[in-house]
Amino acid sequence: MINPLKGMKDLTFEESQRFVHIVTTAIAIAKRYGYSYIETPILEQTALFRRSVGESSDIVGKEMYQFVDKGSNDVCMRPEGTAGVVRAFVSAKLDRQQSAKYKFYYYGPMFRYERPQKGRLREFHQFGCESFGEGSVCEDFTTIEMIGDIFRELGIGYTLQINSLGCQECMPPYRENLVSFLDTHREDLCEDCNRRIESNPIRVLDCKNEKCKSILIESPKLIKNLCENCSSDFAKLKELLDSAGIGYEVDTNLVRGLDYYNKTAFEFVSSEIGAQSAIAGGGRYDKLVEYLDGKPTPAVGFAIGIERIMELVQMPEVIREGYYMGAMDEESVDMLFPLASSKRATDKVTVEYSAKKLKAHLKGADKVNAKYCAIIGEDEVRDGLIWIKDLDLGEEKRVPIGDF
Ligand SMILES: [Zn+2]
Ligand SMILES: [Zn+2]
Repeated sequence: MINPLKGMKDLTFEESQRFVHIVTTAIAIAKRYGYSYIETPILEQTALFRRSVGESSDIVGKEMYQFVDKGSNDVCMRPEGTAGVVRAFVSAKLDRQQSAKYKFYYYGPMFRYERPQKGRLREFHQFGCESFGEGSVCEDFTTIEMIGDIFRELGIGYTLQINSLGCQECMPPYRENLVSFLDTHREDLCEDCNRRIESNPIRVLDCKNEKCKSILIESPKLIKNLCENCSSDFAKLKELLDSAGIGYEVDTNLVRGLDYYNKTAFEFVSSEIGAQSAIAGGGRYDKLVEYLDGKPTPAVGFAIGIERIMELVQMPEVIREGYYMGAMDEESVDMLFPLASSKRATDKVTVEYSAKKLKAHLKGADKVNAKYCAIIGEDEVRDGLIWIKDLDLGEEKRVPIGDF
């Protein structure tokens, strides 16, 4: 027997229904916010992720599904969605359109070669949105509002955490400040943090090590050293969230794992799934289009981890629907097909191809959750009738086949 690869799984029945419910709900809401669908390849040049996600990140450093293909190209299965969408935006020269605004949503599999654990697979799925060309912080607010709508519709509770990562004016002096603070605490910081002081000091703020966390309480805070522009944008964001009645916490250590975020960063977290608590994350990335050879274009986006919220979703009640059709003798089975064909114009129809006794058909109808069980037997053929039982109401009747 051939099983799926480690860290990968099949989704069927209950789980696949949850998956579809999450995706269709998110799509419906994204459309209301003016987003259109974008499909990008799962396989990209490795250089795309090296340049966008960044060499110093764990994703690029340790977790990529990277290989050389038969044409000697260095390729990689996408570890996240944003880089590919930005690449597609630049490939299609949409960055050249003067002041044009584009909003895309996507969903699909992502791949990271990490140790599989609960809620963290090697192949996992994300739903995400990317908005290009809008530099106003109002778009950051609208993006957050949209995610809130999606979670409300799915019946998922959350806490919203926000932060500002500053810009090219206020981030570099802060980074220097932070490095000199971290330098004086090297001995007490964990190995990872020591490495990050050189490669990506901002990521130190993100360390989950308790000792590191306690040291970082005293670290300089970017939020207190933002430039005027970043500071007024952050104030505006909080004001808009307040007026919309969207609760939030400011988390000064919220930095996101990826290098290309600036200004607004946010995470939606759930306390219902333990330590793996982020269920959605995103923010502004005004520099990424330029990094990938496009014209400077402001952008903001987010991704929701579908597996992370799978168990949190409140599924709509299962209701019986459509028809189960069967015959009680072999000769009548073929009569079912034209009837099923016309019913399918409006209803879900399941046809049983084997002749069976009534009791067996009723069981079959129940199993496929049909509302109606429609049966043809010898008597019905003789009288030109079809027997129908409404499984919700328990009512039975015979109707002329022509009226079915
Ligand atoms: Zn700034
Ligand atoms: Zn640490």
